[in-house]
Amino acid sequence: MESIKTIFKIGIGPSSSHTMGPAFAAETVLNRHPDADAFEITLFNSLALTGEGHLTDFAISKILDPEKTSFKRIINNALHPNHILFKVIKDDERIAKYEFDSVGGGDIEEIGDDPMVPKIVYPHTTFNDIRDYCKANNLTLYEYILKYEDEDLLPYLDKVYDAMVAAIKRGLKTEGVLPGPLGVKRRAPLLGKPRMKNEPAEIKENRLVSAYAFAVNEENAAGGVIVTAPTAGACGALPAVLYYMHQKYSFMTRDRVLEGLAVAGLIGLIIRKNATISGAVGGCQAEVGSATAMAAAANAAMFRLPIDQIENAAEIALEHSLGLTCDPVDGYVQIPCIERNAVAALRAINACGLAIVLTESSKIKFDTVVKTMYQTGLDMDIKYKETARGGLAYFYRKKED
Ligand code: SF4
Repeated sequence: MESIKTIFKIGIGPSSSHTMGPAFAAETVLNRHPDADAFEITLFNSLALTGEGHLTDFAISKILDPEKTSFKRIINNALHPNHILFKVIKDDERIAKYEFDSVGGGDIEEIGDDPMVPKIVYPHTTFNDIRDYCKANNLTLYEYILKYEDEDLLPYLDKVYDAMVAAIKRGLKTEGVLPGPLGVKRRAPLLGKPRMKNEPAEIKENRLVSAYAFAVNEENAAGGVIVTAPTAGACGALPAVLYYMHQKYSFMTRDRVLEGLAVAGLIGLIIRKNATISGAVGGCQAEVGSATAMAAAANAAMFRLPIDQIENAAEIALEHSLGLTCDPVDGYVQIPCIERNAVAALRAINACGLAIVLTESSKIKFDTVVKTMYQTGLDMDIKYKETARGGLAYFYRKKED
């Protein structure tokens, strides 16, 4: 598997697969043809259906020059859900064409003769193999990560956490309405303040964790700087848990936060390797479900729980996200995405609490639930995979008609 750094990308929202990935593809094409006269771009499938709400055209044309870009949209289910074709024009001739799949989390894969080869960092690809190796060598999961990653991992995770906290702080104080036709109000500032006198501890915990997740996802929806965790649409759950724990307990030092972040990254890598983190491929279980598993594992790692309990926390979190569909209203990463991240953060904390008690009696391994999530995603009807044609996206508009 590749470095944990490939999971956490600091960039601009609202979507890693529909905004960041296409932007990286456009940069690749521009670097090869800086003198091109024009670029004809075709967006396929999910990119064609929800690209506008995810600012796909805007992100690509900003890089290539709006004056030089034109777009077509085509549905062709034989191709990847997030397929893009670039044709490069010079002196009225089509001089080159490039095709990419935006595979989730801001990653792109080029189709053809010159694929970008990822640098492999970890020799293991499943949790089972990692757990067995750690136990045989008396390593914690965090020690395992440090053994294989370069020394620049921790400085990078430091920057990642800074970017997450900055998004939380900006989101908590920014009021107003999010871009797009839905008129969704920014609600993190409301959640950041108590509404009850003598607020019970559990209500306060729920409210604060939710406020942090709302803050990050509202920043994402507004095109602010966020960190993919593992995607932009699912960027709020993990920072909410890390920041809440960091604030709440004096023993939760920054070192422990980075430990949690590293373990969350490893969980994201395992899911990406053996299943998918793309909503267009696997539905929201692949995005927010993965984020929930990452946040649950992070929480367990911050408490320095044993590897079996970290696994069980991630397993519970993903198992109870199975079947979650992707149905963003009007293709905007707002409804249900923002609230969903808050619920995911709370579920992650809950999964960690359950794992402390239930790990010994657990019958399901993390790898099993990862496989299940992937197969469920493959079986899921296309209208529930980031096409804005099913679920809430359909019924919201039906009600309006
Ligand atoms: S519903 Fe889930 S997968 Fe779909 S855009 Fe929203 S956060 Fe991403």
